Parts: sequence; C-alpha cells; structure tokens
Amino acid sequence: MTRQFNFSAGPAMLPTPVLEQARSELLDWHGSGASIMEVSHRGKDFIGVAERAEAALRRLMGISDDYAVLFLQGGATQHFAQLAMNLAGPQDHADYVVTGAWGEKAVREAAGYCKVRVAASSKDTAYTSIPDPSTWDLQEDAAYLHYTPNETIHGVEFHLVPASPHAPLIADMSSTILSRPVDVSRFGMIYAGAQKNIGPSGLVVVIIERSLLDRAAARRPELAAVLSYAAQAASESMLNTPPTFAWYLAGLVFDWLEAQGGLAAMGERNAAKAVALYQAIDGSGQFYRNPVDPECRSWMNVPFRLHDDALDRPFLAESQAAGLMALKGHRALGGMRASIYNAMPEEGVAALVSFMADFQRRNG
Ligand SMILES: *Cc1c(COP(=O)(O)O)cnc(C)c1O
Repeated sequence: MTRQFNFSAGPAMLPTPVLEQARSELLDWHGSGASIMEVSHRGKDFIGVAERAEAALRRLMGISDDYAVLFLQGGATQHFAQLAMNLAGPQDHADYVVTGAWGEKAVREAAGYCKVRVAASSKDTAYTSIPDPSTWDLQEDAAYLHYTPNETIHGVEFHLVPASPHAPLIADMSSTILSRPVDVSRFGMIYAGAQKNIGPSGLVVVIIERSLLDRAAARRPELAAVLSYAAQAASESMLNTPPTFAWYLAGLVFDWLEAQGGLAAMGERNAAKAVALYQAIDGSGQFYRNPVDPECRSWMNVPFRLHDDALDRPFLAESQAAGLMALKGHRALGGMRASIYNAMPEEGVAALVSFMADFQRRNG
C-alpha cells in the first residue's frame, strides 16, 4: 500500500509519522491495556494527553497565560454563531471584513446574535483581493473585528495582521493556523477547525484572551454552559465529554511540528512550496491560471483553472493515476485546487509541478 500525495482541502492529509504512531498505540496506549479513545476523559491517562497537547500548542504559538486554550466541538461553523453569542449582545455591533466564502458564512451565522456590519468586502473583485485596510469602515462601538486570515475556497490570504483601534481582533484561522509564526498577543480570539492543519475533524481549537472571557460571562449569564467560552475555560474544556481521540491526535501533530523545527521552519517550508506552485502556474503561458492578486495569494490553498475546461476531466484522472489525489476544485469555483498544508511534503508539490508541466506538454 502506498499513500498518495493528498491535496484535499479538508479533512486533509495528516503527517504519515503521526498516523504510524497512532496505529502503533491504537490497541494499547502506553501499556494501559486500552486505546486512548476507550478511557475516561477524567482519568489520569487522558488528562495527561490533554495537558501535554495544550502545553505543546502554547510553546509552538507562543501563547501566554493571558489566553485560555479550549478544545471544543461543533466545527468552525458552530463558532461563527457561538463567538457572537459570547462576545456581543443582541444590541451590540460587530465589524466583519469579508474576503471570501467563509467570511460570508461567518457574517450570516453571527447575524442572528448581534448587529453585524461589513466593514470591508472584496466581493466586487470576485474575492481575488483584500481591501486596503486604510479603507475599512471600522466603527468605534464595535464589540469585535472579525476576519478570515486564509480563505480556503478562494485561495486568498492576509500576509499581515490587521487591527482595529477600537475592538479586539477575532480570526477564523481554520486553514492557516500553525502554517507560520503568528503574534498571538495581537488577537482577542483565534479559532480553527482541526481538519485542515491540526488533526481530525470534530475538534475546534479556541485561543481567547481571558479578559474577554470575563466580559462575556458578565454580559451573557443566561448562555448555556456548553456554549459559554467562560464556562468551558473554567472546566478546562471538560464540561462534558470532549472529542478525546481528535484531541490526542492533535497532540501528536503538535509533537511532530516541534520535531520539524516549529512554526518558523514550517513557515519557510510552506512559503517555498507556495512559490514553487505559483511559479509553475504563472510560467505556463496561461495554460494554467490563478486569478488572485499576487500580494494576497494563499500559501495553503492554491486554486487554478486550465485554459480549456474540457481538459479538467483528463487532468483529474491522470493526476490521480500519478499518485496525486483530490485536486478537484471547490464546486463554487470549478477548476482545480491544491491544498498544501503542513503535512504536504515539498516532494508532493514537486511531483504536482512536474505532472502539470508534463500534462501541458501533452495537451498544449
Ligand atoms: C473549513 C473551514 C470552515 C468550516 O469548518 P467546519 O469545521 O466544517 O465547520 C470555516 N472556516 C474556514 C476558513 C475553513 O477553511
């Protein structure tokens, strides 16, 4: 059996050494006589796994004690609504910067729980750009400013951290967390569904400033405990049964990242992978095309089209046969998309680049 280079946008490829370790421990975790997913989340074995995972994530991202780190459920989609429930009241305003499909969904889901304002949007460019931050219409009374650092479908990424002079910054980092170093102290809250760059689906990591938790608890005492970030923080994400296996596997991924040299090393590797792929696209004489402004092209998700849509089918069939899987683009955009998260090795991108050149020679 050989594992293919897997370009899936999510659930995405995981590092092979992580899966091998999980397999070797699956039936009998560290001589305990049971799998780690078969034991109590309140027992010392799982508590140890959970604490080590959190400590590793704190080291990797440089997260200070001013922040709580939560391991929750519901997908990033649930948190689109849940963050509004926690951080704004029904009468409060919140500012949103929309640079793609996920930002649109974040707006739609929050709108039932606070007064959402779109401070800037790049919809008029079909989400191929990022509006200049100096033009953002940020309001003084905003409860927070929300943005999507990497738009997974449109392949648009912020290469800077924006700021509001008025409100804490909230980032949906689902598809870019851990891909490079980031200064956590500039954020009020970071959240990410796990299935792109952390581990299996079913887990959401929330990193939130403790001062925001206190305000949220005071503002929304009626909120169900399971939906309250403050209550979750007070119980160390163990208010009810957490997604134990996903949490364990995330911990293995964090260990793997530290062994790779941490986020600085990953950032260099991810930049090199992205440069190689965009060069292949831009150097193809319009045989392949990526429409995104080069200033804000994603390091993680690279959508591209072939010059003739009729070639999509053979491209997908032949790439699959060449060991390159899941290159089909999102249904909203068509064409192709190569997701090249942390677990995608440089050899995987090199294999794709060489397949693309060969395919063009045969069909150009
Ligand atoms: C995948 C993704 C989501 C949705 O995640 P779910 O876990 O399916 O809810 C939200 N935001 C971004 C940026 C994503 O890439």
